[in-house]
Amino acid sequence: MNLHEYQGKEILSTFGVKIQKGIVVSTPEEAVAAAKKLTEQTGTGWHVLKAQVHAGGRGKGGGVKLAKSLTEVETIADQIIGMQLVTPQTSAEGKKVHQVLVAEDVYYPGETETSEFYISVLLNRTTGRNMIMYSTEGGMDIETVAEETPHLIFTEEIDPATGMLPFQARRVAFNLGLSGAAFKDMTKFVTALYTAYDKSDASLFEINPVLKTSDNKILAVDAKVTIDDNALFRHKDYLELRDIREENPIEVEAGSLGLNYVDLEGNVGCMVNGAGLAMATMDLIKQAGGEPANFLDVGGTADAARVEAAFQIILKDPEVKAILINIFGGIVRCDRVAQGVIDAYKNMGTINVPIIVRLQGTNADIAKELIDNSGLDVQSAVEFQEAADKVQAVLA
Ligand code: GDP
Ligand code: MN
Repeated sequence: MNLHEYQGKEILSTFGVKIQKGIVVSTPEEAVAAAKKLTEQTGTGWHVLKAQVHAGGRGKGGGVKLAKSLTEVETIADQIIGMQLVTPQTSAEGKKVHQVLVAEDVYYPGETETSEFYISVLLNRTTGRNMIMYSTEGGMDIETVAEETPHLIFTEEIDPATGMLPFQARRVAFNLGLSGAAFKDMTKFVTALYTAYDKSDASLFEINPVLKTSDNKILAVDAKVTIDDNALFRHKDYLELRDIREENPIEVEAGSLGLNYVDLEGNVGCMVNGAGLAMATMDLIKQAGGEPANFLDVGGTADAARVEAAFQIILKDPEVKAILINIFGGIVRCDRVAQGVIDAYKNMGTINVPIIVRLQGTNADIAKELIDNSGLDVQSAVEFQEAADKVQAVLA
């Protein structure tokens, strides 16, 4: 589950990580009120307005703007709220902005006196350990830093038995070139950041930039946070942080039907039981020269109702030009799945894309007969390769 910047910052704050203070709003009037309140709390005269969407690079797309007066707060809030924000990380149509974070300006008196760093905590899947990744080159796109100046990216691997050790926090501060008060503040910052990541069961906490202010304080100016969905049962209070407006609508619907669905770019819809078989099916489609339109695991019980739900979901994607159903009948018998496919097909009326069905396992032969004699525009296949080739043939 991805969070908005303001939500990520709230979590950071509860773990004692210092943040750029802000108030999230959804109208220009609220923005002005928020700015006044921040001035009372922090003494700041200037404010920065930040579009809240699940995408980075907002600054480049005009979604982060500095306001030097309350009139500017109002006009900028009016511009940003409701806009379609296009950034290097969104699609060409961009994302609609529903909320804006009004934050204190923390770069005062000027950018020459401040430094921006990059710090993230994430899981290194190769070593199976959490890791702190950090760089002196903050504020920029980290992928560019990794490509052009990889020697400016440092990592600190965390031993799960000990957690982060104090010397590791000091090494981060040292490698970032800090000294004095800023050095001390950075060790506290990194330690609290790691605790926040660990205790919230996150899979990513990316702070870019981490700012050293002109008076040597270390603050999180941005926060990109992903909470591990598998741990959400331990964090019931985080459930309300979900903003489904930011998620792919087909994926949201599939999720509510209990289907494991991920939308992809290609044109071959896949309906498969089991995640491993679904991955293998996608590989085979690619190998045969096609592109999968989705990952879809219908789960163990591939009955008519689930098959129909899966059809509905796959056909919502206008790119789909063929559907490959690849089901292994182990506990669930193939003839029942075949009947499910036929019933679902009939129930749905018109399906305008060719369907190739491969059923293997218990009663596969009966299943093939059912499909072949159904009179529907459904082709059966026995071998995996044969199925993929038939898909390519109908697309050609
Ligand atoms: P992103 O573009 O989506 O990563 O959004 P960020 O939250 O990282 O903001 C983008 C940029 O806006 C930062 O790198 C800063 O340079 C700038 N910015 C953020 N907060 C302030 C602020 O308080 N004052 C000023 N002057 N600039 C800010
Ligand atoms: Mn950023």
